[in-house]
Amino acid sequence: MFRTALAKTSLLRNAAVKSNLPSVAAYSAPAIPQPITQPDIPYTGIFINNEFHKSESGSQFPTVNPTTGEVITLVEEGDKADVEKAVKAARKAFALNSEWRQMDAYDRGQLLNKLANLMERDKVYLASLETLDNGKPYTNSYMADVELSIRNLRYFAGWADKIHGKTIPTDGPHFAYTRHEPIGVCAQIIPWNFPLLMQAWKFGPALATGNTVVMKLAEQTPLTGLYVAKLVAEAGFPPGVVNVIPGYGPTAGAALASHMDVDKVAFTGSTQIGHLIQQAAGASNLKRVTLELGGKSPNIIFKDADLDYAVEQAHFGLFFNQGQCCCAGSRIFVEDPIYDEFVERSVERAKIRKVGNPFDFTTEQGPQVDEEQMTKILGLIDSGKSEGAKMCVGGARHGDKGYFIEPTVFADVKDHMRIAREEIFGPVQQILKFSDVHELIERANNTEYGLAAAVFTKDLDKANLFAQGLRAGTVWINCYDVLNAQTPFGGYKMSGQGRENSEYALRNYYEVKCVITKMPSKNA
Ligand code: NAP
Repeated sequence: MFRTALAKTSLLRNAAVKSNLPSVAAYSAPAIPQPITQPDIPYTGIFINNEFHKSESGSQFPTVNPTTGEVITLVEEGDKADVEKAVKAARKAFALNSEWRQMDAYDRGQLLNKLANLMERDKVYLASLETLDNGKPYTNSYMADVELSIRNLRYFAGWADKIHGKTIPTDGPHFAYTRHEPIGVCAQIIPWNFPLLMQAWKFGPALATGNTVVMKLAEQTPLTGLYVAKLVAEAGFPPGVVNVIPGYGPTAGAALASHMDVDKVAFTGSTQIGHLIQQAAGASNLKRVTLELGGKSPNIIFKDADLDYAVEQAHFGLFFNQGQCCCAGSRIFVEDPIYDEFVERSVERAKIRKVGNPFDFTTEQGPQVDEEQMTKILGLIDSGKSEGAKMCVGGARHGDKGYFIEPTVFADVKDHMRIAREEIFGPVQQILKFSDVHELIERANNTEYGLAAAVFTKDLDKANLFAQGLRAGTVWINCYDVLNAQTPFGGYKMSGQGRENSEYALRNYYEVKCVITKMPSKNA
């Protein structure tokens, strides 16, 4: 996904020329329109029944531009009372005789397609707003976040009228069939690292299968999700099918997770909050739970890999999105004979990574999302130094305005160090050494996480051995961060439950009902 979309931009050209990527250098970079650096922000309310509302409490909260640290605007702060209103609206929209439930599945798909078309129409605006609120480079917002959100909605639009059950032979004079029915009111709680994309990943399968939705946006990045809510109304979804609440996790998020009239909660965020979501679901009405959580993904480079290409891929796999990726390749295991060379080239690559104004087309890295994240990352960098890892480049705040961090590379990292065990979620690369291939699968799997992994080698047997042995929801071979709407994504172990994207995601959004009918007897 990220790789596929971004491969067409000039940002990756240099890397491609030096590597053995067959075709990237041959692409002509598509023209990316100029951004709107000061976009109007008309939608800051709580979206219920296709209208924007003030919060019941009268409270608002600021959303901050991470490039400058300045407040962009105030947003209505949804909490328990607003969740009540939104869940009531979603429940009503889910009633058996409602417009939504009576709608032909084809028409449901058409509404999703209309939403995708409207996002396409407003692509520059959405990409600009995403960059303003999140800090990610505009080229990435445009080519990856908005583009892939559109593709995701279109993918699930196509599924809407293809979700069907089975007929089943039974013993005796009975006829049995299954219906795949929507679960009901789905709470969806999303993080700040890919605000638009996480929204699309959640809306697509939930709406294609006929559910209604109450989504809580991340407090750091509410603006694009609210604009998309306005597009939902414009597309013609019936009122109450989609409701969107900006607000805080411990109030609005917790109210959703423990709500007795919410049938399912889908959460993307940290493993720590994932525990709370599952507990809340268990303590309330045993609502269905899907979780997309954190990672500490191993990226394994064998000595036979194309070195230039592997260095670039490892760089991309870690630093993309300011390192704020759940599937970041944050434990890079490099085989002994090429270790020193790999470190040296990785350091050179990090040194030329362009950090700065995210609206500038040449910028590769913008600010971290907020001060809290910046401080947390700097703390983990300090722990790496004090535990004896070798900091080869970076390690400090970049500038004194906004929340920028220098691209940082650590060598001589050992498995037990905090920087090798904890999710840093920042532009900090850890490079570990290996010589024993048999031990390596165990080392790579020695983590509570299991989201993704990668192997770089020209030896097919080794690639297959690791593809089988690594306990992760995705294993990339000779590539990194390739995700598509049609391929499943999710975690083993404490990286989550269930899958996003692909046909597998649909399974998280329908109940299977079995209908058994007595057939007339032969003598009747
Ligand atoms: P987070 O702190 O877990 O927050 C995620 C969402 O949960 C936010 O909307 C947050 O609200 C809300 N929340 C916080 N406390 C809550 C509670 N008690 N009850 C209900 N909701 C609550 O994670 P984050 O810092 O935003 O995002 C980074 C994490 O997400 C990383 O660990 C990353 O790996 C993970 N992630 C995983 C995937 C994946 O697909 N596996 C994708 C992206 C990110 P607030 O707005 O108040 O914080």
